[in-house]
Amino acid sequence: MRTSIATVCLSGTLTQKLHACAEAGFDGVEIFEPDLVAAPESPEEIAALAHRLGLSLDLYQPFRDAEGVSDESFAAVLHRARSKFRLMRRLGIDTMLVCSNVATATVDDDEHSAAQLRRLGDEAAPYGVRLAFEALAWGRYVDDYRRAWRITELADHPNVGVCLDSFHILSRGHDPAAIEDIPGEKIFFLQLADAPALTMDVLSWSRHHRLFPGEGAFDLSRFVGHVLAAGYRGPLSLEVFNDTFRQTDVLRTAQQAKRSLRWLEDQVARRSGRLSRPGGPERLPDVDQPTGFDFVEVKAEDAGEVDTLLRQLGFTFRGRHRSKPVRLWAHGPARVVCNENLAREWPPTLAAVGFEVTDPKAATQRAGELEAPPVFRRTYAGEQPLPAFRAPDGTEVFLSGAGDGEPAWVAEFESDDAGVGAEEPLLTGIDHVNLAEPWQSFDEAVLFYSSVLALRSGSSQDVAAPTGLVRSQVIRGENGAVRLALNVAPLAYDHPRGFPQHVAFASSDVMLAARTARARGLRSLPIPGNYYDDLAARFDLPAGLVEEMRELGVLYDRDENGDFLHFYTETIGGVFFEVTQRRGGYDGYGAPNAAVRLAAQHVHDQRLGRR
Ligand code: MG
Ligand code: MG
Repeated sequence: MRTSIATVCLSGTLTQKLHACAEAGFDGVEIFEPDLVAAPESPEEIAALAHRLGLSLDLYQPFRDAEGVSDESFAAVLHRARSKFRLMRRLGIDTMLVCSNVATATVDDDEHSAAQLRRLGDEAAPYGVRLAFEALAWGRYVDDYRRAWRITELADHPNVGVCLDSFHILSRGHDPAAIEDIPGEKIFFLQLADAPALTMDVLSWSRHHRLFPGEGAFDLSRFVGHVLAAGYRGPLSLEVFNDTFRQTDVLRTAQQAKRSLRWLEDQVARRSGRLSRPGGPERLPDVDQPTGFDFVEVKAEDAGEVDTLLRQLGFTFRGRHRSKPVRLWAHGPARVVCNENLAREWPPTLAAVGFEVTDPKAATQRAGELEAPPVFRRTYAGEQPLPAFRAPDGTEVFLSGAGDGEPAWVAEFESDDAGVGAEEPLLTGIDHVNLAEPWQSFDEAVLFYSSVLALRSGSSQDVAAPTGLVRSQVIRGENGAVRLALNVAPLAYDHPRGFPQHVAFASSDVMLAARTARARGLRSLPIPGNYYDDLAARFDLPAGLVEEMRELGVLYDRDENGDFLHFYTETIGGVFFEVTQRRGGYDGYGAPNAAVRLAAQHVHDQRLGRR
C-alpha cells in the first residue's frame, strides 16, 4: 500500500525530513504547518524538492478551530482558510486536515458545524482542495469520530470528508467498528499512531507518547481492517508525536517508521484476507516463530574468564573454530560461542544471538523486507553461511535451520581435548536472553525484534536499580520457546553495553546446578540476607529450603501457575549468566527479584572498584 508520514514525526529541518522520508522509501508526506512556516525555502522550492525526491505531498495540516464558532468569528476563519488554500496551491497539495475545534467553539450543534464546513467546502472547491475533518480526542464539542462523520454527512459537500486518526479513536476507547458505516470515498485521509497503555490526560499522552505501529498497545490491525473494509484507498500515513523521535537521527527514525508500516500492512493482510486486492495490504513471507535459541555469542579480546564461568556451570568445551579464534561451549542444547575475532579492546560483551527457525530462507526474506540491515561475516569454503542482521542495539541476530540434533555449523569446531569437563544434564537449554537498550532506540528495538522475528510483546515493567529506574519489556514467542527481555540502560552507563546483559539457562534442578557449580569454584552473585528474611515472610517455604537458597544465592518467585528458582553468576565485563528453573506453569522472569539483583550487582561492582 502507499505509505506516507507527517513531517512532525521526525527531527531536523523540513528539507532534511523530506530527504530522509524519500531515502526510507515513503511514497509521500504530510506537511506539518509549523515545519513549513519555519523553513527558509519557499513553498515552490519545497514542492520542487519533494517532486525531485519522488515524494507526493499528501496532506497539509493542521487547520484548527474552523467550525462551531459564532457567525461573527466565522468570517475570520474564512479569511484564514482562503490564504491556506492559496498556499496549498503553491505547494500542490489537495487535501487539508481540519481538526475539530478546541479553543474557539461556542456553538454545540451539528447543523451549525456542518453549515460552516459546507461553506468552507465551497471556498475550497475552486482551489481543488478537499477538507478532511478530524475529531480530536480533546475537541471542545466534537471529540468522537462518529460525530465528526455525522457532521460531515450533514455538510453534504463533495469537498468535505473525514480524517480518521487511530490515536484519537483508540485513546478514548471508541469502538472503531462503526468506521465501516462511512463510505470509503468520504474517508479522505488515514493517520496512524500506536501508543503505550497509559493513564493520563489524553492531550499530553498524544503530544509526547505516541509510537509507531507495533511499538505500543493499540490494536492497529483491527483498526486498519475496518478502514479498508469501508473502502478507503488512500495511503497509510503515520502521525506520531514523540519526544524521543524528535531528537533521534532523522533517517534512522524514518526507516523505523517505514518498518512499522510494513509490519502493520502484513498484520492487516493476515487478519483480513477478504481485503486482498491489487494495491491492498501485502503479506510478508510466512514464517513460524523461532523454535528456540541456536546459540549466544560472547565477544571479547580475552574471553578466558567466560570460559572459566562456563566450565563451572557444567558446559563442555567443544572445540576451536577451524579458521577463527572462536571457541564453542555446549551443555545439552545450550551453546555459547566465545569470539575473540576482531575483538581488540572489547570487554566480554553479548554480541550475537542465534535463533532456530523452521525456514531460514523465508525468515531471511522477511527480515530483508523489513529492512533489517544485513551483517557480513566472512565464511570459508565448506562453512555454513548463516544469514545475520544487526538489531538497533548492535546485537547481531543469526537465523539457522531448526532440526534434530546439533546444527551443521557445530562441525566447524574441532578439538583434541573436546569433551573436557564432564557434562551432567543440569541445563536443558537457553530460557531467555536479556539485552540492554539505549533509551533512544528502545522502541525501535521492540519493533525490530517483534517484527523481524515474528514475536510478540509480552509483559513490561519498571525495576528500581541504584543507578536508575530500568524499563523492561519482554518480547517472546507464543509458546515461550524464545524469550527476550529488553532493558533500558540507565544513563550512568555511558555506553549501553556497559550495562551488563545476560543469558539465562534453563535447568531441571537449580539447587543441584548451583551446588555443583559451587563445587567447581563458581562464585554466584552474593544476595543479601535481608532478601531471605523477606522471602520467608512472603512465602510459606520450608525453612530448610530458604536456608539452602541463602547459602547458594538462589532467588525465588511464584505466580498463579507455579514457581521459579534462579541464581546469577558474577559479571565479567558486560556479561553474566543466570540459571533458572520454572516449575509448574510459571511464566515470568523473577521480576520481584530484579531490583535485588541489580542492587547486589551494584554493591558487588563497588567492592571491586568497578563503579
Ligand atoms: Mg491526526
Ligand atoms: Mg533474567
